[in-house]
Amino acid sequence: MKKEFAVIGLGRFGGSICRALSTEGMQVLAIDKDEEKVNEFKNIASHAVILDSTDEVSLKEIGISNFEHVIVAIGENIQASILTTVILSELGVQRITVKAQNDYHEKILNKIGAHQIVHPERDMGRRIAHNLISNNILDYLELSDEHSIVEVKAGRKMKGKTLIDLDIRANYGCNVVAIKQGKSINVSPMADEILKEDDVLIVIGADIDISRFEKNLV
Ligand code: ADP
Repeated sequence: MKKEFAVIGLGRFGGSICRALSTEGMQVLAIDKDEEKVNEFKNIASHAVILDSTDEVSLKEIGISNFEHVIVAIGENIQASILTTVILSELGVQRITVKAQNDYHEKILNKIGAHQIVHPERDMGRRIAHNLISNNILDYLELSDEHSIVEVKAGRKMKGKTLIDLDIRANYGCNVVAIKQGKSINVSPMADEILKEDDVLIVIGADIDISRFEKNLV
């Protein structure tokens, strides 16, 4: 039977992934070359082992290819991250997710078999920046280089207006895909839905359009 997750590198990012997966009841093998880090995760993950992931033999010994999903969360040491990814790919690991430090790192990871590449610092920086621009932007999710989904509080300018009044699609080229009202969520809001000040709109669109929408309405 396939085992669930293995997380290599137990720094801030890998450690947090490990904790979150364990809290969700997933089977997680925590791996780091640093004994102290591994000890820290002994009681959190299902198993924790000290191992240098650039050593192919050690990875084979723990049966890394039996894991459904391996997360490479080695931060600073780009060389070790790349080498580990190559080995995992050669060993036929089904799903490899790697944390990239920068765009060059990402380019290489793409070429050597990473299935998913994440940029936690960059993405979180962007989310926080959106939040700083306006207190009404609650969350932000990048869909592609040019498209996003944002969660915005309806605010004063939208209060008492309907989606037709605001005509967001015609005026800003974005679509309101859902409206959250307290705990309930309306996933296909009608055009004559009257907005209340605390409503939260979930808006999808091109970044430039969302940015115009944010400037004028939020
Ligand atoms: P973060 O920015 O997420 O905190 P760090 O670079 O601080 O990332 O941490 C990465 C972790 O990866 C460290 O705990 C380090 O010991 C571990 N690590 C680095 N290289 C290897 C390797 N070759 N094998 C296993 N673990 C490694």
